[in-house]
Amino acid sequence: MVAVIDVISEWIPEQMGPGAVFVLENAGQTGEPEDPFWAVLSCPRCCTLGLITRKQVSGLIPVICGSDYCSAQFFLKDSQVIPRKPN
Ligand SMILES: [Zn+2]
Repeated sequence: MVAVIDVISEWIPEQMGPGAVFVLENAGQTGEPEDPFWAVLSCPRCCTLGLITRKQVSGLIPVICGSDYCSAQFFLKDSQVIPRKPN
């Protein structure tokens, strides 16, 4: 799992390597009003793309990979990927 996220400014799916983040053009305008979708994240372990919310971008709630074959759970903090400690 990569340790640092990589914010890209242009949507080029082929360049979404592990940990790449692309902020949505309509960030904050879709999803739940209190925690809207904010960006697309490429899983730092398996590269599966998934939407993440504002609270996930700001590290308030963990990101859980949506792939059936990857159980990555982590927080984003100051562009770092912090693995979630098991309870
Ligand atoms: Zn994954």
